[in-house]
Amino acid sequence: MIERWASDLKKAGHKEVGGVLFGEQIAEGDFRIVEATRQRFFGGTATTFNRRGGAARKEILALHKKFGGNPERFNYFGEWHSHPNAPAWPSRQDETTMYNLLADQGEAVNFLVLIIVKLDRDARFHIGATTYLASGHKLNCEIDVEGAERDVAGAALSDEEDEK
Ligand SMILES: [Zn+2]
Repeated sequence: MIERWASDLKKAGHKEVGGVLFGEQIAEGDFRIVEATRQRFFGGTATTFNRRGGAARKEILALHKKFGGNPERFNYFGEWHSHPNAPAWPSRQDETTMYNLLADQGEAVNFLVLIIVKLDRDARFHIGATTYLASGHKLNCEIDVEGAERDVAGAALSDEEDEK
């Protein structure tokens, strides 16, 4: 997954790319990202990522189907996008978007994760993750990259809480 991200970012150059994340709950508060979609018709400019709401909804529905309609275990997990021209942490606009998305999900989803990826000038891969809670809090999120043969990234919610 990381390799695919890195090569995607290379191709996208200075444009932002992104998509939705689908996760599997392995244990309480412990998740594995099973899929990260990449929006095909991408309208991002160098500084703003235009999330395609309609396309994202379709992707989420398709993923629910693919994973057997088992939302307790497999569910919409959040969003990812790149920050080619900014550090790998969320912008104010990103945070607003995440809280709006959470509000849209209603009570079915009580948190969403935002992953921001970036290739720096030396082609080093950076990844930052934040968890947004329906309560209005946010948590730093730990990302463990599992072995390449499994091609997945896992995320564990940490207790560390940001000042808001
Ligand atoms: Zn952003």
